[in-house]
Amino acid sequence: MKDKKIILANPRGFCAGVDRAIAIVEKALDKYGSPIYVRHEVVHNKYVVDDLKERGAIFIESIVDVPENSTLIYSAHGVPLSVRKEAEAKKLRMIFDATCPLVSKVHVEIKNLHKHGYIIVMVGHKGHPEVEGTMGQVSDNIYLIETEADIKSLPIPSDVKKIAVVTQTTLSVDETKVILDKLQQAFPNLRKPKNEDICYATQNRQDAVKKMAEVCDLVIVIGSKNSSNSNRLKELAENLGVKSFLIDFATEISAESLIGASCIGLTAGASAPEVLVEGVIKKLNSYGFNDIETLTTVEEHMIFALPAELRN
Ligand code: SF4
Repeated sequence: MKDKKIILANPRGFCAGVDRAIAIVEKALDKYGSPIYVRHEVVHNKYVVDDLKERGAIFIESIVDVPENSTLIYSAHGVPLSVRKEAEAKKLRMIFDATCPLVSKVHVEIKNLHKHGYIIVMVGHKGHPEVEGTMGQVSDNIYLIETEADIKSLPIPSDVKKIAVVTQTTLSVDETKVILDKLQQAFPNLRKPKNEDICYATQNRQDAVKKMAEVCDLVIVIGSKNSSNSNRLKELAENLGVKSFLIDFATEISAESLIGASCIGLTAGASAPEVLVEGVIKKLNSYGFNDIETLTTVEEHMIFALPAELRN
């Protein structure tokens, strides 16, 4: 019988921002010992967070829960200014910022726009820590929209002169383009970001899923349920008419879930480690998926530097 096929997306898994954020926690643990306090899950992945917990990281949501003289790390999603101020007002040993530099870039953009009198519209998911962190860079004149339908409820006159838009970094590239075009129609003076706010890793992983969806009859995305970029990969495959699952671990795969599939596209969200991909490949091998091919859409070489105190 002919082997069934796995098409492995490349690029997949860890991006430069996630690599850096995890390395900051690991190196802080090495240098200062446990416990190390991390505000929010450093990246949205259950395996990574559980592993760091075992090594001595304590994940908290509120600065109130960080004891004096301890070391604090902000997650890759970034934090509002109010959180920074609260942390800086406490007597802490060290604070490290694991905010992805591509999220920090949007923070700088927003502060600059606000300073120059722009009304800012952010496109993103309500309640996501990146959105809370980004919107929390300014005190007023900023509005969140999640969908095209939200545009009409914005309390902004259509002829406003100074209006700008920024986006969450992990959105659907195609859906965001539609929303930005509609926003431009509603506000002709809209200023769009000079460079896309959606990051390279989100874009590249979505491009790879588009290619896999052309040839596969199932796309498996490895990532946690609260991972924005992983959810977008699953949605993208489904929008292209291909069945898709988002799973944390290989144990979630059953023979029933693979019925009808002869070619599986396999990818991982930007916060999912390669060890989980290896586990899923092994599991798929046990169901006769032994022919493995890699589909490379682009090579990634991005690296972000660590804070000076944590470099070797
Ligand atoms: S997904 Fe993009 S924005 Fe988020 S950490 Fe990775 S590179 Fe940074």
